[in-house]
Amino acid sequence: MREYFFKFISMTKKKDIRALTKEELRDFFVSKGEKPFRGNQVYEWLWSKSAHSFVDMSNISKEIRLMLEDQFVINHIKVDQMQKSNDGTIKNAIKLHDGFIVESVLIPTDKRTTACVSSQVGCSLNCTFCATAQLQKKRNLNPDEIYDQVVVINQQSKLYYGRKLTNIVFMGMGEPLMNYNNVLAAIEKITMDEGLGMSPKRITLSTSGIPKMIKKLADDDVKFNLAVSLHTAQEEIRKKIMPFSESFPLDDLKESLLYWYAKTKQKVSFEYVVWKGINDNQEAIDALIKFCKQVPSKVNLIEYNPIENSGFNQASPEIIKLYIETLEKNQIVVNVRKSRGKDIDAACGQLANKSS
Ligand code: SAH
Repeated sequence: MREYFFKFISMTKKKDIRALTKEELRDFFVSKGEKPFRGNQVYEWLWSKSAHSFVDMSNISKEIRLMLEDQFVINHIKVDQMQKSNDGTIKNAIKLHDGFIVESVLIPTDKRTTACVSSQVGCSLNCTFCATAQLQKKRNLNPDEIYDQVVVINQQSKLYYGRKLTNIVFMGMGEPLMNYNNVLAAIEKITMDEGLGMSPKRITLSTSGIPKMIKKLADDDVKFNLAVSLHTAQEEIRKKIMPFSESFPLDDLKESLLYWYAKTKQKVSFEYVVWKGINDNQEAIDALIKFCKQVPSKVNLIEYNPIENSGFNQASPEIIKLYIETLEKNQIVVNVRKSRGKDIDAACGQLANKSS
């Protein structure tokens, strides 16, 4: 009886239509005796027009719409809560179809508006300075859930700042390379003409540094930018502050980045926070310089955003100045990234669903 019940449920459960590729949609229509171009039409409604219901699909006959409704659902995300920082940054708590919440951030500056999107619910890595790490990983986001965050932020950008989104960074919750296929599928939709038509040059994927997957990115010939959260080029210290890196020694990371550069000719950006008592000394600077000389790269010095009970503190301005001077003396490009949206916990490493 119980078995029959579950069989019945799985038979009646509607499929997520956005899990289908364009080809699969075309094939579906052919199997129903319809013309394949119906698949293209529905695909366009689902992606470039972001339709939330089959009723909206005005060039599709009522009969077909009812048939689709009978078999499929269109899952979509909802902005559950929106908070605006006094620097203009907007943080969204996004509710997924199964009730989980992730966060996505809109960061406006003079020249650009950037979307910072999440790739997982929580995170499976354990960086000791990051608030997201305190939430365990619940699940990976689907391609449509990643894509929809960009759509929502693009709409907010137009509404509040009168311009389209210019950049996307995968620096929200989660480790994008631990959700490889879905993140790449989302980027494909973001860049394709039937999606948002954005240039991959305006997209940056940030990883904590998983060598095997960095090599896979290079093999897959991706055209977007790569950032690695390095934070220290000293093995023992990295193992302490980013314990997962025990399994991924710096030599392997270096080798994967050399492979990335050989294939893509793109420099990696290293994200780097300087903390008191961790990497605020000459030895740490020397190690970073040595690493950067071995791997074609630039460095983004990120301001530390304090999180509760972490015990980490931002290093003194003097030592940060010394970092900048030493990097520049060694012809390594260095940018200093100021925190945005700190007052609403929207800055790097602060995403932890604290809004509610
Ligand atoms: N897992 C990926 C994507 C998250 S990006 C990665 O680690 O790259 C988030 C960025 O913010 C990473 O560079 C991360 O190291 C950094 N970060 C985490 N906690 C932070 C904090 N409290 N202050 C400043 N940056 C932080």
